[in-house]
Amino acid sequence: MQDAAAFRAEARAWLEANCPASMRGPMPDDEIVWGGRRASFKNPESKLWLERMAAQGWTVPTWPRAYGGGGLTAAEARILDEEMRRLNCRSPLQSFGIWMLGPVLLEYGSEAQKEAHLPRIARGEIRWCQGYSEPEAGSDLAGLKTRAVLQGEHFLVNGHKIWTSYANLADWIFCLVRTDPTAKKHEGISFLLIDMDDPGIRTRPIQLISGASPFCETFIENVRVPQENLVGGLNNGWTIAKKLLEHERKMIASIGERQRGAERSLSEFAKTYAGTRDRRIADAVLRDRIAQQEIDQRAFQLTQRRAAEEAKGGSPGPASAMFKYYGTELNKRKFELLLQCLGTQALGWEGDGFAADELRITREWLRSKANSIEGGTSEIQLNIIAKRVLGLPD
Ligand SMILES: Cc1cc2nc3c(=O)[nH]c(=O)nc-3n(C[C@H](O)[C@H](O)[C@H](O)COP(=O)(O)OP(=O)(O)OC[C@H]3O[C@@H](n4cnc5c(N)ncnc54)[C@H](O)[C@@H]3O)c2cc1C
Repeated sequence: MQDAAAFRAEARAWLEANCPASMRGPMPDDEIVWGGRRASFKNPESKLWLERMAAQGWTVPTWPRAYGGGGLTAAEARILDEEMRRLNCRSPLQSFGIWMLGPVLLEYGSEAQKEAHLPRIARGEIRWCQGYSEPEAGSDLAGLKTRAVLQGEHFLVNGHKIWTSYANLADWIFCLVRTDPTAKKHEGISFLLIDMDDPGIRTRPIQLISGASPFCETFIENVRVPQENLVGGLNNGWTIAKKLLEHERKMIASIGERQRGAERSLSEFAKTYAGTRDRRIADAVLRDRIAQQEIDQRAFQLTQRRAAEEAKGGSPGPASAMFKYYGTELNKRKFELLLQCLGTQALGWEGDGFAADELRITREWLRSKANSIEGGTSEIQLNIIAKRVLGLPD
């Protein structure tokens, strides 16, 4: 306990001295830092904040110091998180490398792969994207067809990925490829790291109903990938793919939690937009639904924390499907309520005459619908829960 108190005091003092003033408080979407070779910093203090946090190892607090991490225990990392929330510090770096690739490289990567990639992820120097889904392989991911043929020291890779989030902005892609077309479908897959700075890789953004293009088709044509970029051995990709999905699902499950720090509570929002009577939300039915939502959010947050403590910083295993399912459905429910609070004001889409909330919430409501698709749909999570958590028969 004494150690914990000392660490809390140390973290608090460091954050107070080093977190720039403009990095305390809600983060507008266009100030989010994703890093990468072509990183852009709308606010110069974002760059300073990233550099300071990376030097401290606190962009990845629990990773070993040797790979750019802070070497903190899970308990210390939680204290750091609490102290960052207390000061309202922004996250210095959002990154698929941190959330997904890093944890599996730590578990399955060779020493050379860890040294080559982890510090660059921790410092935000390389932006990664995820090359899993294909036009004929989404829920049935093991049906993927992108081929990698070993030719001497290189793999020759050809294929077509789809829904690759931010592929047009990424530097490297972690990719599932078929290396043995004669084996059973789960057994002929490998996990490859590919530098996208190769003329054989093309991306084509996909435009959505919201007007945004958050993801792309990715075409891979005759790309030569050094054998040293194979992670975990030939045809062992499925094990790594599943483990990475557990980390991804854990991350997606907490999406509401991350957003909550950046906005007012639901009840405050409802009071602003749906009106008050005796300082309470005027509409009794809405009041009841919001109270239930806030109770469910709090219970979910505490359950996630308990599971994280039990997992001691690792992934919660197949139970991540439960968190992914519940967290994303909860987040969708939250946006339905926000929309209900706004009423006809939620019709705002663009242009003058609308408050920032009105323009933002409608788009985020649409975006939230994808949370229960990306990283595996809700139906697939229910299948995993039935089979791998509850052990029910097929
Ligand atoms: C916003 C967003 C970002 C994404 N980012 C990435 C990314 O960066 N990289 C990447 O590789 N992929 C990404 N994806 C793709 C995502 O993983 C797939 O969309 C998802 O796995 C579903 O696959 P699908 O779209 O092919 O749908 P399908 O697999 O065709 O499913 C269609 C419908 O059938 C249902 N269904 C399918 N099989 C079963 C079953 N066995 N039992 C019950 N129901 C079933 C599904 O639940 C769904 O409702 C992203 C998707 C979204 C929406």
